[in-house]
Parts: sequence; structure tokens; C-alpha cells
Amino acid sequence: MAWDFETDPEFQKKLDWMEEFVREKVEPLGLLGIHPYDVKNLRRNELVRPLQQEVKDRGLWACHLGPELGGQGYGQVKLGLMNEILGGASFAPIVFGCQAPDTGNAEIIAHYGTPEQKTRYLAPLLANEIVSAFSMTEPQGGSDPTSFITTATRDDEGWTINGEKWFSTNGKWAEFLIVMAVTDPDAPRHERMSMFIVPVDTPGVEIVRNVGVYGQEQGSESYIRYTDVRVPADHLLGERGGAFAISQTRLGGGRVHHAMRTVGNCRRLLDAMSRRAVSRKTRTGTIGDYQAVQMQIADSYIELEQFKLFVLKTAWMIDKHQDYRKVRKDIAAIKALMPKVYRDIAQRCIHIHGSLGVSNEMPFVGSLIGAMVMGIADGPTEVHKVTVARQHLRQYRDVADPIFPDYSLIERRARAQDMYDPVEELVEAAE
Ligand SMILES: Cc1cc2nc3c(=O)[nH]c(=O)nc-3n(C[C@H](O)[C@H](O)[C@H](O)COP(=O)(O)OP(=O)(O)OC[C@H]3O[C@@H](n4cnc5c(N)ncnc54)[C@H](O)[C@@H]3O)c2cc1C
Repeated sequence: MAWDFETDPEFQKKLDWMEEFVREKVEPLGLLGIHPYDVKNLRRNELVRPLQQEVKDRGLWACHLGPELGGQGYGQVKLGLMNEILGGASFAPIVFGCQAPDTGNAEIIAHYGTPEQKTRYLAPLLANEIVSAFSMTEPQGGSDPTSFITTATRDDEGWTINGEKWFSTNGKWAEFLIVMAVTDPDAPRHERMSMFIVPVDTPGVEIVRNVGVYGQEQGSESYIRYTDVRVPADHLLGERGGAFAISQTRLGGGRVHHAMRTVGNCRRLLDAMSRRAVSRKTRTGTIGDYQAVQMQIADSYIELEQFKLFVLKTAWMIDKHQDYRKVRKDIAAIKALMPKVYRDIAQRCIHIHGSLGVSNEMPFVGSLIGAMVMGIADGPTEVHKVTVARQHLRQYRDVADPIFPDYSLIERRARAQDMYDPVEELVEAAE
């Protein structure tokens, strides 16, 4: 019997340290107008590097990675508890060396990269000396990879890439881009594309503009045009035609980590609305005395606890199977659940704060946008729900009979009576 919902005391001490460290030292960095990913900004580095060193000294650096890559090998459950603390403080993932999209990019170079690629790109990425971007989505198609038209063509010396990519997060800060391009248009659907490592200063890479998510003053979702971009043959990442399989490895972990951080965001929102509920005075007491407000607090608590347990259970399954593919259904399920829980809690938090809630003095409307983003980035909710349903229905694929004979109460009662005829048993007992 191995169900246990407790954190071991030694690890809890680390989490307690993290809570205070993030609140006292890391959160304020997000208010200075510096971008966490701007690794060439001297002021940013002056502030961030000593904090990263403190994290390393505590043995908490890059906890998503195994020891062979300089991480701690804590596994996903512990990472889930840590990410809950990191969610909501914009600099926290950078300070702890586990920021998206670098985590996913590092993961695939570690899995599929050549020794040279690891030395040149992975090592500085893991040290946060550089940052990277993942360049997959195109202006004319995101959810459906078969609509991608960026091509890479091979000649004797290497590859030439042509096309446009959209929403390549952090393209403007990145040292290199991981680009997905069609290399084999006539191959089966999942083998048409390959991945390439493209240094951002390669001639022909043009950042058309940096789009912002609504409300951001400076955007970092890069719209990138690739015109006759030449990369040597050894810049292919993994096998030719392997992009689809590689991106599934990458996105599986990324989705879980987003969900973990979203638990943290929701916890902060619940905390804020609870404080407001008990402190906002009315003529008879506080607004928390109204049942209508209590319902909103209760719904938020219930939904958050459900979501958190589901995320941790999924993390536990990843630790158990060590294979994202075996946990596909639950990863898709938490991805689909995340925007709804986040949006509902953010919306209630705003509402309970009244005018202050919608004002630009509070971060809550940003959370609402964040919730919308979680329903789109890494694939829209609908696509993930389809995955959940398909995976779930697999266990029923051998069911050939129509439902009626199995479930009809009349039929079942008749079968039950054949098995145990209570009347006859009673008669026999009486005799
Ligand atoms: C903040 C942010 C960061 C991102 N970062 C990156 C990044 O770093 N790299 C990268 O490559 N991409 C990135 N993306 C892009 C993201 O992966 C795409 O936005 C996403 O895959 C959806 O594609 P789309 O925007 O083209 O929407 P579309 O594909 O046009 O879909 C629009 C809507 O159509 C509906 N829809 C689409 N397909 C289906 C379906 N099969 N079934 C039912 N309904 C459907 C859904 O309602 C969906 O929301 C990011 C996006 C955001 C918002």
C-alpha cells in the first residue's frame, strides 16, 4: 500500500527555503523593467548571477535534469512541488535554471544531439550563459503540423532553409533557434519534417518583429523569416524525418511543467482573494461573510486541489514509467484542464477585488490573459481533449457488442436471478 500525500521533511526544508528566497529576493526582480531572458544585459546579469549561485550552492539548480547533465535528478513529483513555488515570479525559473523553452530545447539536444552539438549548444544553455528559441509554429498554421510549409533542402555541403515562423518565444534573446522544416514532402505524415539547430546570426535569419501577448509593453514572440539560410549538414538535430517524434518528447515535459507552475499561479490568486475576503469591510462585517463570496472561495479551493493532485499524479506516473508516451492521456488531460482552472480562479479573484481587481495596479487581469495563453500555447485545448478521448477509448476497442444487452436492467436482473435465485434460496432455507 503506497499512497502517501506527504512531503518528506528533508525536502520540505528545501521548499521552505525556496518560498522565502523567491518571495524576498527573486520576485522584486520582476518589477525592475528588465527581461529575465536578456542574457546580454549587464545589469540583469549582475542581479541574477549571484542568486543563481545561491541556488546552485543549495543543490537546487536545474532540477528538471538528471545528474549527468548537472541537475539533481529529483524526478517530476519533487519538481512539481518546486515549480509550484516558482510559478508566478517571472525571474524564478531563470534563477533556478529551469526556464521554458530552454528546458525543452536542452532536453532534446541531450537526447538527440551529437557530442559536438552538446558541447557547442547544450553546455552554455544549461549554464544560462545563452538562451534559445523553438521555431515550429508558422503564420498560416499552428495546431496542424501538416500545414507547415517551411522547407529545408539538402545539397553536398549542407541544408538551405526557407520559410516563416511565428511566435518563436524569445527569438530576440536567443543564441540559436531550433527550427522544424519539411525535408521530405512525400514521406508519410509523421516523417516529413526534420529539426535543425540554427545560430540566430546566420545570414538570412530575419526577425520581422517581436509580437507581444496583449498587455505586454515589449513583445518577445518572434516572427522570423528564413531566406536561403545555410546550415552545415551537422546542424541537423536527430534523424532526418524525425522532427515529429522529437517534438513530442519536448512538448510532453513542457506541458507538465506549465501545469506545475500554473498550480503556483492559482495558489497566489486564491491567497489574494482570501485576504481580500477577510479584510474588505462592509456595514455588517467583511465581504467574506457573504455566502456568495464564500462560494467563490470554496469553488476556487476545490478546483485548485483537484488540479494540483492531478498534476502531481501525472508527475508521479512520469517518474514511474520514465516515458512521456506512456503518460500521454494524463499529460493531455492536465493541459486541457489548466486554462479552465486558471481562468476561473483568476476571474473570481478579479471579481472579489472589485475595481481594484480590474485596475492596472493589480496583476490579476494579466493572469486572465495567462490562462488564455495556456489554452493555446503548446496546442489548443480541443486538440488535447481529442487525445484524452482517443487514448481513453482505446481500452474499449475490443468491445464488439452493442450496449443494450449488457446494460439493460431487465437482462441483468434475469442473469442475476439465474445466478442467485433468492426466492428459491429462501424456500430451500425454510424447508
Ligand atoms: C504565448 C505563446 C507562446 C508560444 N510559443 C511558441 C514557441 O516558442 N514556439 C512555437 O513554435 N510556437 C509557439 N506558440 C504557438 C502555439 O504552439 C500555437 O499558437 C498553437 O499551436 C495554436 O496554433 P495557432 O495559433 O496557429 O492556432 P490555430 O491552429 O489557428 O487554431 C485556432 C483555434 O482553432 C481551433 N482548432 C484548431 N485545431 C483544432 C482541432 N484539431 N480541433 C478542434 N479545434 C481546433 C482551436 O479553437 C484553436 O484555438 C506559442 C503560442 C503562444 C500563445
